[in-house]
Amino acid sequence: MNILSQSGTLCRMHEFTSELEVLANKALAYSLARLKDDPPLDGPRSEEDLFAEVGETITSKGLGGVEALAVFTDVLARACISTDHPRNLAYIPSAPSEHANLFDLVVGASALYGGSWQEGAGAVFAENQALRWIADLAGLPSSAGGVFAQGGTVGNLSALVVARAEGRKRWPKTTRWAIACSAEAHSSIASAAQVMDVDLLLIEPTNNGKLTGADVARGIDDFHKEKSARVFAVVATAGTTNLGIIDDLKSVGIEAKKRDLWFHADGAYGLAALCAPSVREKFAGIELVDSLIVDPHKWLFAPFDACALIYRNPELAKEVHTQSASYLDALQESGSWNPSDYAINLTRRTRGLPFWFSLAANGTDAYSAAMEQTLEIAQVAAQKIREHPRLELLLDPELSVVAFTKAGWEKSDYKKWSDALLADQIGFIPTSSHKGQPILRFAIVNPWTKVSDIEEILDTL
Ligand SMILES: *Cc1c(COP(=O)(O)O)cnc(C)c1O
Repeated sequence: MNILSQSGTLCRMHEFTSELEVLANKALAYSLARLKDDPPLDGPRSEEDLFAEVGETITSKGLGGVEALAVFTDVLARACISTDHPRNLAYIPSAPSEHANLFDLVVGASALYGGSWQEGAGAVFAENQALRWIADLAGLPSSAGGVFAQGGTVGNLSALVVARAEGRKRWPKTTRWAIACSAEAHSSIASAAQVMDVDLLLIEPTNNGKLTGADVARGIDDFHKEKSARVFAVVATAGTTNLGIIDDLKSVGIEAKKRDLWFHADGAYGLAALCAPSVREKFAGIELVDSLIVDPHKWLFAPFDACALIYRNPELAKEVHTQSASYLDALQESGSWNPSDYAINLTRRTRGLPFWFSLAANGTDAYSAAMEQTLEIAQVAAQKIREHPRLELLLDPELSVVAFTKAGWEKSDYKKWSDALLADQIGFIPTSSHKGQPILRFAIVNPWTKVSDIEEILDTL
């Protein structure tokens, strides 16, 4: 592409010049070192501080690729916490496999369009096989399918919008709609309710934080006493983010189906463990869902950002999410699978491809083994906390979140400890809370997190 530069001379932006050759080698060398070496933990800096060091990076003449890369590698990258550090156990961290990250480089170089079959058939084919693996693990029929959306938040919202459309077909006179879920459900469900301008029916789980069919039945039937008020979807959480608790999917699903309601499983974190034989039984009932989500960027060793959104009957999603515009007509003519028809999205990167590639290259057995490894480390961590003289385990970990407290500590003590842990570059473990009380939690999703990493952290407590 030729563009006129300010001085009126022609400059070429799309030509692989010798300067680009140098940049390519530097960018690849940096990327490979980042993949091969243990990542530094790093940490945030203030905006003033960063500005003082790098100044204004957007200039009329440009910094040049090598200089701009150096700004990133030497300064900006170091002000980002490595989500894949083995002692980053915060929130839900990330642990992309080498295969997945390497293939992300390929995706980045390929200018793929992932919205339609017409433009991205090969990529969509591969993404769909990866979705199929998850659908099979969940026991969904062969007609199930969906899309890799941006994240669990968009995945949940997209599924719930389809659920409401189904509700409107069944109960057209309803004036007050609600989503029913556990009080322990993820904040993205409340966000979806807000975006959709519907009520959120929060049900207090009675069985140690686990939502059961009886809880749901009571909550819904109560809500339905109001004339023209209707629940249109029941959301079960398959692994709560804070504590890793799996709702009783089977009894919740049965009560939803009895009432002809859409049953959605939010498994952004936990449903990854469907591939771990040792815990598969805990997800009994997942085969009843109308839709589910799981984020491969959380616990399936894929880079950000990818949420697998799968519908039992994708035709229902297509009715709701297909965008129509004259310039898009050609996409619908072929009758083939367009990922943009299954979520709130049109243009999309082929974000499922790094996950697909890693699955294809390593095989699913490697996934089961890596998953079992993280589950095992979580159990070892729990045991070490039980044996620790000053710590108390909050509950036996159901998956790989290990939550605990320290006797006599106030909120400020936890924060001081957490800040020091990061400042000393030992680990990243921000405080959380449960029932209004501060807690600490390890979210273990990284197969490179070893027992010695857990010990190093526990030694500071
Ligand atoms: C992380 C999470 C989400 C949100 O997913 P994002 O990818 O962060 O948008 C939703 N539900 C649960 C249970 C989660 O753990």
